[in-house]
Amino acid sequence: DKSDHDRALVRARLSRVGQVVVVLSNKGGVGKSTVSANLAAGLAARGLRVGVADADIHGPNQSRFFGLVGARVRLSAAGLETRTFAADGIAHPLRVGSLAFLMEDDATPIVWRDSYKHDFIHHLLGSFDWGDLDALVVDMPPGTGNEMITLCDVLDDGGPPAAAVLVTTPQAVAQMDSLKAARVCAERALPIIGAVENMAGVVCPHCSGSFHVFPDAGLDAALAVEGVGKIAAIPLAPELAIGSDSGRPAVLDHPDGAVARAFAPLIEAV
Ligand code: ADP
Repeated sequence: DKSDHDRALVRARLSRVGQVVVVLSNKGGVGKSTVSANLAAGLAARGLRVGVADADIHGPNQSRFFGLVGARVRLSAAGLETRTFAADGIAHPLRVGSLAFLMEDDATPIVWRDSYKHDFIHHLLGSFDWGDLDALVVDMPPGTGNEMITLCDVLDDGGPPAAAVLVTTPQAVAQMDSLKAARVCAERALPIIGAVENMAGVVCPHCSGSFHVFPDAGLDAALAVEGVGKIAAIPLAPELAIGSDSGRPAVLDHPDGAVARAFAPLIEAV
């Protein structure tokens, strides 16, 4: 039946993917998409064949982060084509698959029932022609709802090795929420590569001193309780916001700069 067909298609696509990196947060606006895009770009800059699956249904921003706003895709015998991002120093153009490529315009909100969202994960992973990839970065919607359950089911169903990255800000509420995601990973036996503390501090452009915007609410201790290590601390940096808006992940510029250095341990760990 149809669902067997969908599952077989997803399995066939993922059999050509070396590993899946699931980027999670339990709250919107903590920088999950920014981390996904820069992680993917950093992996591609190290010579890997990388894809980004934009599973954030209500905020499909990956097209913007990779300069693909307004891009549309064609359907061929191999499936839906991905759109690619090329840059100096990236040997294999990065492949992006997003619902944004299928929408009439970027301002149309998506209002779907849960059953549709379930199908969406299958479509995203199964309908796009991802080709051969070393790593597929999946930018998940915030929260631990249906999409997360469906993705875990897909990965359990003979999928490639997979692991999660948890994105949080230093604020207490974000921490509590991100720890819920950690528990879902534990329940589903999805290994966690580590947590990324985003907006961890600000570097003054004038004096290069740094300070913290958010109070330290004991993030490291809270992560330790869940057995999750902090793998990277990303500063609040204008380059990151500019990179998102201009369609070129900031990690690609100034390889010795603060942003690239902050992302390095995460990229190395994947
Ligand atoms: P999420 O995917 O968690 O909803 P986004 O990655 O879309 O969050 O980030 C929300 C906004 O904050 C974006 O406009 C992004 O450019 C900006 N942003 C995220 N992290 C940083 C950072 N460390 N420094 C500066 N701007 C950031």
